[in-house]
This record gives sequence, structure tokens and C-alpha cells, in this order.
Amino acid sequence: MITIRPDEISSLIRDQIEQYNNEVQVINMGIVLQVGDGIARIHGLCEVMAGELVEFEDGTIGIALNLETNNVGVVLMGDGLTIKEGSSVKATGKIAQIPVSDAFLGRIVDALAQPIDGRGPISASEVRLIESPAPGIISRRSVYEPLQTGLIAIDSMIPIGRGQRELIIGDRQTGKTAVATDTILNQKGQNVICVYVAIGQKASSVAQVVKTLRERSSIEYTIVVSEPADSPATLQYLAPYTGAALAEYFMYKKQHTLIIYDDLSKQAQAYRQMSLLLRRPPGREAYPGDVFFLHSRLLERAAKLNYQLGEGSLTALPIVETQAGDVSAYIPTNVISITDGQIFLSADLFNAGIRPAINVGLSVSRVGSAAQIKAMKQVAGKLKLELAQFAELEAFAQFASDLDKGTQDQLARGQRLRELLKQPQSAPLSVEEQIATIFIGTNGYLDRFEIQFVKKFLDQLREYLKNSKPQFGEIIRTTKTLTEEAETMLREAIKEQIELFVLQFKNNASNRI
Ligand code: ATP
Ligand code: MG
Repeated sequence: MITIRPDEISSLIRDQIEQYNNEVQVINMGIVLQVGDGIARIHGLCEVMAGELVEFEDGTIGIALNLETNNVGVVLMGDGLTIKEGSSVKATGKIAQIPVSDAFLGRIVDALAQPIDGRGPISASEVRLIESPAPGIISRRSVYEPLQTGLIAIDSMIPIGRGQRELIIGDRQTGKTAVATDTILNQKGQNVICVYVAIGQKASSVAQVVKTLRERSSIEYTIVVSEPADSPATLQYLAPYTGAALAEYFMYKKQHTLIIYDDLSKQAQAYRQMSLLLRRPPGREAYPGDVFFLHSRLLERAAKLNYQLGEGSLTALPIVETQAGDVSAYIPTNVISITDGQIFLSADLFNAGIRPAINVGLSVSRVGSAAQIKAMKQVAGKLKLELAQFAELEAFAQFASDLDKGTQDQLARGQRLRELLKQPQSAPLSVEEQIATIFIGTNGYLDRFEIQFVKKFLDQLREYLKNSKPQFGEIIRTTKTLTEEAETMLREAIKEQIELFVLQFKNNASNRI
């Protein structure tokens, strides 16, 4: 006879209920409708977010960019050659993010922060969203510390402050990258973390930059993010945001950072390619309507944080290439309007041997002068004025045959000032050397030299100041002012060196020095 024991049954049922695991996993799936040119259209994926990462069957990752009524447009991070029509796609629930840590310093990574320098994996404990929102007004304070580039023309007349965005703009092969890399070299010993983002550059030029950084042991405080010209448009589009995320990690850790985007024209082109393939409507120059937002949301992330957040900073130096010096093209005007000023490099000056080829008349810095040290302000005002007068006179003097003595003197002075602004590549000068150099020029000490001797004399004098008069640099660095004591010291050094220089070359050439 069967006896029914209700308590046994109920305990069994109770056990079952207790063990019931009610974690239901919903996987948001879709099916590939179409794939090609780095784009895939997916059916399904109904609750996917804009910008969410999706994973294909073959492991390729993509970003959902177009959310339409009956399909989702995904850009692929990779060639996607093994993705098949009808295969499945999984939403990951994550917005693009990268690992971040101090171990990234000295490394070369791609747009997904994966190492590409063959030096093994990079350990990281934290992650950051590639696109995180820029700090708001309350989190910021105004720019007040200088970021020295080491180039006299920039630091004296177009100064850059920590937390500023300054555009470097010019035609191809005018020394844009050189200005940026010199600035990285000059941050040695200044506690500034640098990030160099190469977008759509030739792999050989990136290798050259890395080589320079290694040779000058500047790679230790630098991260290179590189997506060369042959990498997929999606990754070229992402690279600047990845670089910004890496720099932000250090900025929020109370450090000063500098980021270089070389260059944003290539990023805009990559974005245009993606947008056109996604069939977004083309606008001016075939760029999509939101190309302004592409750059503004990136450059807004440059900031000087307030006291509560630790006073870290992110200075951005975006680079934009122009065609035949046309700054009124779409991308240049956009980026000019977003940044706090621009350094304009001119092909004419570059070809005339004036390098760095900075066109002082067309370059501005809207906030940096607040960050200049007093000593620099003391000497730079006169330099700017005399150069402006010279530029005017020079144009006018081409037509006049007979010039009075005053005009001739002014022209001679201007030519020497222009000469002292020339600097070879990878030779940044410290702020005290710059101040001494400008002082010599604006006080007329160079007027007696033939132009070809100017550089030689300046090199000799700077060498002398560095080795034999270290007190001069010391005063400038500690007081940040060109004190009377420093000025007397400098004048004496100049007189002494001029006498020495004249003696050295007296018997040499027949011409006057
Ligand atoms: P691209 O448009 O190809 O990116 P770019 O504008 O970045 O070019 P660079 O590559 O920096 O220009 O420089 C072009 C050439 O000029 C290089 O060969 C570089 O060595 C040289 N150059 C740059 N700056 C100077 C300088 N101050 N003195 C002498 N040569 C320089
Ligand atoms: Mg370049």
C-alpha cells in the first residue's frame, strides 16, 4: 500500500524552491544582414545602446553607431573578413573602454590600448571609458601655469598655459610634428606626462618620433598611441579619445599632462569615411553634420582642474593640416573656433629657411599670456612690438630705394630678431636661455654682428651662461623675475662674450663681425 507522506513531498518542493536560481540571463542577439567596407548591418539587437560594443561570432568587435527602425549600423574594429551573412552578433552591454595604469608610460599602444611595441602585455587594474564627459565649469579653474614648449617664438609671443588647447596648423611638411615633439622633449624634468596620438600618419614618421623620444630619454614620461594610415577608419577615429582617456587617468591623479593629436584632419577623414558608409547624409566637403561635435567633445576634455580635484591639468595640442594655407576650409575653421588660439606655420617661411616657420602675425594664444612668468613678460613685450614694426617696414622698404638711417637701423634690428627666433629641430631652450636670448636682441647687442654670426654668438653665450653663470638661471627660476641683479649679471656676461667673440674672429674673415 502506498502511503503518501505530505511532509516529505512538501520538504522536497521547498528544497527545489530554495535551490531555484532565478538569475535569468538575457542575451541581446542579432543577425548579420550585410557586411563590407568595415560596416555591418544587423537585424535584431533591439535594446542596443548607441556606442555599445557588439561581438561577432568570429570574435570581431564593432561599435553600434546607427540605430535605425529595422536595423543597426555597426562599424567594425578590424577587417571583418571572416564575418558571414546570417551569423549571430551579441551585444556586450559595454560602452568602449580601455585599461589604464601607470605601466603605460614609455609604451606604444593602438586605439584599444593594446601594446604594439613588442614589449609584452601592460598590466592595468583600472578601466576608463574611451569617451568620458569633459569636466564641468565648477571642476575647473582658470589657466595660470606656463607649459613651456622650448621654442622662443612660441613661449615669448604665443605662450601656452597648462590646461589650454592650442592648435598647430599649417600645410604639409611645415614642421608641425616637429613643434609638437620639441614640446614633449622640453617637458623633461617638468613632471608633465605626455601622450602623443598619431592618427593616419605614415608608420615611418611615427617610428622617427619614437626614435627621437628614445634617444633623448623622453619616452619614459610619454605614451604613444598610434593608428597608422593603413589601419581601419574606426580605429583612426577612436585613437584620439583613447589618448585623452589615458591622459585623463593621470590628470585625475593630480598630474600635469600634455596630449598631442597628430592630426585631427586625418581623424575627420576617417569619420567621414565611416559616416558615408553608414549612409549618413553628407554636408559641407562631404563631412557629416556632426563633425564639429567630433572635435569639440574631444578638445573640451582639456582642462585645468580646481583645488578640490587636485589641480591636475590636460593641455591639448591638436594638429590640423591645411591645403595651400587655406585656414577657412571646413575642418580648420571648426577647430580654430574650438581651441584657445593657434600656432600658424607657413610654408613660405619654412622654405625661406625661417624654422620653426611660425607666422607670428597669424598666430594667437587667447589665455596663455596669463600663464607667462614675469621675467618673460618683461622681455617679450618689446620683442613683439619690434617684430610687428619690422614686418610692416619690410614690406614697405621693398619699394623704396633710399632709406633714412632710422629706417635702416630698424630693419637691421628686425632681421636680427628674426634670426634669433630660428631654432633647429629637437633643440628646445630653457626659459632662462630664452630670456637671455631675447634680451640680447631687443637691447641692440646683436646690431653690430653680421647676420650669419648671430646664431654662432648666441650659442656661445648660452653655453657660457649655463656653465659659468648658473646663478643667472637660478634667479630666474626661483624669483620668476628678471631682477636688477640678474640683469647686471647678464649685461656683464654679454659684454665679456662679445669681446671674446670679436677677438676670435678678428683675423678670420675680412668682413666685419
Ligand atoms: P607632415 O605634413 O608630413 O606631417 P609636418 O608639418 O609634420 O609634416 P615635420 O615632419 O615636422 O612637418 O617636418 C618636416 C621636415 O622639416 C622634416 O624633415 C623635419 O626634420 C624638418 N624640420 C622641422 N622643423 C625643423 C627645424 N626647426 N629646423 C630644421 N628642420 C626642421
Ligand atoms: Mg607631421
